[in-house]
Amino acid sequence: MNKSPDSLKKEFEAIVGKDNVMTAEADLHSYSYDAAVLPSQAPAVAVRPETSEALGKVVKFCNDSGLPLTVRGAGSNLSGGTIPAKGGVVVVTGALNKILEINAEDMYAVVQPGVVTAKFAAEVAAKGLFYPPDPGSQTVSTLGGNVAENAGGLRGLKYGVTKDYVMGVDFFDVNGELIKTGSKTVKCVTGYNLAGLMVASEGTLGVFEKIILKLVPPPQAAKAMMAVFDDMIAASRAVAAIIANKIVPATLEIMDNFTIRTVENFRKAGLPVDAQALLLIEVDGHPAMVEEDAQKVEKICKEQGATSVKVAKDAAERANVWQARRDALPALARVSPTTVLEDATVPRSKIPAMMQALNEIAKEYKLQIGTFGHAGDGNLHPTILTDKRNHEEWHRVEKAIDAIFDRALALGGTLSGEHGIGLAKSKYMKLECGLGALDYSRRMKSVLDPKGILNPGKIIGF
Ligand SMILES: Cc1cc2nc3c(=O)[nH]c(=O)nc-3n(C[C@H](O)[C@H](O)[C@H](O)COP(=O)(O)OP(=O)(O)OC[C@H]3O[C@@H](n4cnc5c(N)ncnc54)[C@H](O)[C@@H]3O)c2cc1C
Repeated sequence: MNKSPDSLKKEFEAIVGKDNVMTAEADLHSYSYDAAVLPSQAPAVAVRPETSEALGKVVKFCNDSGLPLTVRGAGSNLSGGTIPAKGGVVVVTGALNKILEINAEDMYAVVQPGVVTAKFAAEVAAKGLFYPPDPGSQTVSTLGGNVAENAGGLRGLKYGVTKDYVMGVDFFDVNGELIKTGSKTVKCVTGYNLAGLMVASEGTLGVFEKIILKLVPPPQAAKAMMAVFDDMIAASRAVAAIIANKIVPATLEIMDNFTIRTVENFRKAGLPVDAQALLLIEVDGHPAMVEEDAQKVEKICKEQGATSVKVAKDAAERANVWQARRDALPALARVSPTTVLEDATVPRSKIPAMMQALNEIAKEYKLQIGTFGHAGDGNLHPTILTDKRNHEEWHRVEKAIDAIFDRALALGGTLSGEHGIGLAKSKYMKLECGLGALDYSRRMKSVLDPKGILNPGKIIGF
């Protein structure tokens, strides 16, 4: 790329308009980092296309000019996926934010990639339908970012994650050609599952232009409850016991004592601060079944050692339970200057072992780790509270992160349940995938993106 900053600016202005090209230092700084704790890197320019046509032209221009291109939704990912590791261009999708269709009869929706997740879920709900994926970041995250990360959330156990709702993705390939994939039909097996290939591709294989999402009927009733334990391992066993009894709650979350106290300190939610662990559970479905499941869950929790189980009496109490859970990360993040949130995931039956491993790791590396997460999915969020400026401590944090992944993989788990690989975990890829899958991925990438301009450095490394 030999273009001067001035000529680059002019060429982008011709594509997306003067107001949608950003080169001021403050703007470029804003696009140099995301929610991951990683070194920042500013792009040379950031552009904000307002139309699909302009988006496609930007992709083509970048490829023709050999300019690295990093697409960015809200930048809320936790794996460095939107850090423009090789500089170049950041393409912001915020203006591509139209819900193009919500079809109640065939239960699907068509959206542009920059639509905010919670706004979409609310519009869908207003039409009497339900879009279950609900990442904790849903008030800011975009559907494009959700698909590119295969985002999960609190309802993964019963309803699945973003991939379970992707029916099609239209995307620009690296040449700026629009590739249409998938279908609005319930079933479609025409050719390779290219829409599936786009899921979790983290902006490395194509730039989404449009997404077709499946919708479902909303549950008729729901009941939230809070089970209190004085032993973390007993709480973990209760998780396995609930599922073993063939009850699949919509949500089954866990919080350790440190997280409970920190959340209560953040906002008085009435959490039992002496509890060693809490399970936050929601069952939903037909009202009669909800009642029965709630009673069974209460009984199972008590059998597994819960000291009390509080069932939310009304909508306000139910909202309070879930607000407390959603407060976990912001509350922990206030404790220290640097918060490292991991999402190592293990088979559900291995949660007790993983919880134990996290305690040992915290002790061994003398670190404060608060743990909460989607226990029903085996997806824990050990959150290391530290200060990156303290080099000695940061060195211990890095060792602890390595140890967390080692232990998760040894227990048959995975590097990431929902936060993606990005830059943060690309170095661990071969530990889980082996060289075969990594090499296959690299070969695929080099064919689809021969100049390596689409989000370089992410997933498969440089
Ligand atoms: C407080 C907090 C809570 C969170 N809770 C959860 C949670 O519960 N579950 C969960 O899964 N995640 C969670 N996350 C992580 C994050 O919000 C998700 O990964 C989310 O999907 C990112 O969406 P985004 O719009 O911010 O995407 P970005 O961060 O902007 O981008 C993410 C990736 O998507 C790519 N991308 C974006 N748009 C496109 C496009 N149009 N075409 C191709 N690629 C594209 C980017 O290049 C990047 O690789 C949380 C984050 C925070 C800060």
